[in-house]
Parts: sequence; C-alpha cells; structure tokens
Amino acid sequence: MGEPTHAPICSVCLKSGILCQGCDNKLKEGRISRLDVEVSRILYELAQKNRALNTVNFKRGVGEGDLVVLIVGKGEVKSIVGRGGRTIKELSGRLGKKVRVAEEGAELRKLAQDILTPAHVRGVNILYSGNNEVYRVRVPHRDTRRLPAGADAVQSLLTKIANKEVKLVFE
Ligand SMILES: [Zn+2]
Repeated sequence: MGEPTHAPICSVCLKSGILCQGCDNKLKEGRISRLDVEVSRILYELAQKNRALNTVNFKRGVGEGDLVVLIVGKGEVKSIVGRGGRTIKELSGRLGKKVRVAEEGAELRKLAQDILTPAHVRGVNILYSGNNEVYRVRVPHRDTRRLPAGADAVQSLLTKIANKEVKLVFE
C-alpha cells in the first residue's frame, strides 16, 4: 500500500463518507470546498488501482458552471491526467463536468493554455487602465468553439485561480 493521496482533507476523511471535526471546520470556514472533498475522495479511490496518483498533491478544485479545474503540485499534471487521459475521463464522468488540470503557481500563459485546451493561447498582454492591470489572454477566433466552456465562465475561472483580472480576447 502506498501513501494516501495528498489532499486537502485528512486520510481518515478520505476513506469515510463523513467528515471529522477538523475537516468539517475547514469546510465551514471556507478553507476547503465541497468540491475539494468530493475530488479528494474520488482520487483516493482511484489511487488504489493507479499508483501514479499516489504522487499527486491535489491542492484544490475551482468550478464554474460545467467546468472544473483541479490544481495540483508542480510537475504533476501528467500523473493525474493518466494514460490517454483516463483519470480525467473518470473524474469527469463522476463529477458530471468537464475537467481540466493546472499546476499550482503556474504563470498565467501556461495556466490559460492548460485550461483552454484544445483551444490555443496566442499570448498574454497586460493592459494598464488607471490603477488596474487587466491580463488579456489572446485566443484565435477560430478556436472559439473549442473552449471547454463559455468565454465568461473561462474568464471567471482564470480570474479566480490567477487572482488577477483576466479577459479573453478573440482575434
Ligand atoms: Zn478529517
């Protein structure tokens, strides 16, 4: 038996259907979300059959509409995606949502590319307006329909994850 999946909830809660006092408090205080709990448990279960998942540090999930982005540790995207995207398909089926994976602390361009795929990111520009910085993620027009969700949802996810004001620009 390998180590349990590194997750926002403790190893007892990964295996049980209820939350211990400590994890329940984290949930109530908003330090973790229901999505974090759900994804952690699914990953733990999948890790029993797929050892590569034991090395994945799942940090948090961020959702918007039908799209969920899972944030993992540096260099771990490959392990969670799985061969031919198997793990992601499984997660997607269980959650009933589209799933994308991104690295914690990734620079915006890489983050955007991981989330927007199969749409392409041409580049990121910063637009200064007054005291605000707006990060413009440039996407080719023809890729509009390849976005994993509506432009508004994707924009809002990027803004939440990067903690910057992000706008998608089609050109
Ligand atoms: Zn717990």
